[in-house]
Amino acid sequence: MTDKAKIKEVFTSIQGEGPFIGYKQLFIRFCGCNLSCNYCDTDYRMIDSVEYRLCELVELIKQHLDCHSVSLTGGEPLLNTGFLKEFLPQCPLPVYLETNATLAGELGEIIDYIDYVSADIKLASCTGGNDLFSEHDRFFSVASPKVLFAKIVFDSNITEYEIMQCAKLGAKYNIELILQPMMVDDNIALDKDFIQKTLDEFLKKYKKVRLIPQTHKFLDIR
Ligand code: SF4
Repeated sequence: MTDKAKIKEVFTSIQGEGPFIGYKQLFIRFCGCNLSCNYCDTDYRMIDSVEYRLCELVELIKQHLDCHSVSLTGGEPLLNTGFLKEFLPQCPLPVYLETNATLAGELGEIIDYIDYVSADIKLASCTGGNDLFSEHDRFFSVASPKVLFAKIVFDSNITEYEIMQCAKLGAKYNIELILQPMMVDDNIALDKDFIQKTLDEFLKKYKKVRLIPQTHKFLDIR
C-alpha cells in the first residue's frame, strides 16, 4: 500500500466513448500499461508524470464536484492497486474505471470501491497481441456485480471466431457490447458497409450490441 502515485495527468473533459458519452468527468491518467496495442495513441510513459499524494488528489477532486464521476484511466490503472486501495475509499465522487480487462486479481482488490467498469475486449486481429478471451472471462467474473459494459475496437481484420467469443462473453455476463470502429488520424478507418456488416454479424449472435464511435475526436476534445 502507498499514499502516493505517479500520475501522467489530471484533467476535466467529456466522456467520449461508450454509453456514458457526454458526461463531464475528472480524468486521472495513470502511467504504465501491461499491453502494447498496435493502435494505442495514449502517452502513458512515466516521463513528465507528477507524483501526487493521496490527500492532494482528494482535495483536487473536491474542486470538481460538478463532474459525474472520476475516470481512472491510463495506460492501465489497475497497475496501481496499492495506491487505489488507499485512495478510492476517500474519493468524493463515483468511480468509473477504464481498463483493458486483463488484471482480474488486481480488480478484486478494489472492486468494492468501483461504481462503473468500462472494460475493453482486446481483439488480437486489431491489437497485434495475443488472444485474451480467457483473461477477459476471469476479469468479467470479478467485475460483473458492478455496472459493466465492454468496448471492442475493431478493424477490417476482425474474425468470425472473435465475434463468436465476444458474443459468448456478452451472453455469459449479460453485458452490453459497444463496437468502436478503429480510428486513424481522428477519422474512422473503415468502410461504412464493412462497419454495418460487422454490426449485423454481432447481432446474429447476441442482441445487446451497439455501435458507438469515439466522439471526443470529432469534438476535438481530450
Ligand atoms: S491497453 Fe490501452 S493504454 Fe494499454 S497499450 Fe492498449 S490501448 Fe494503449
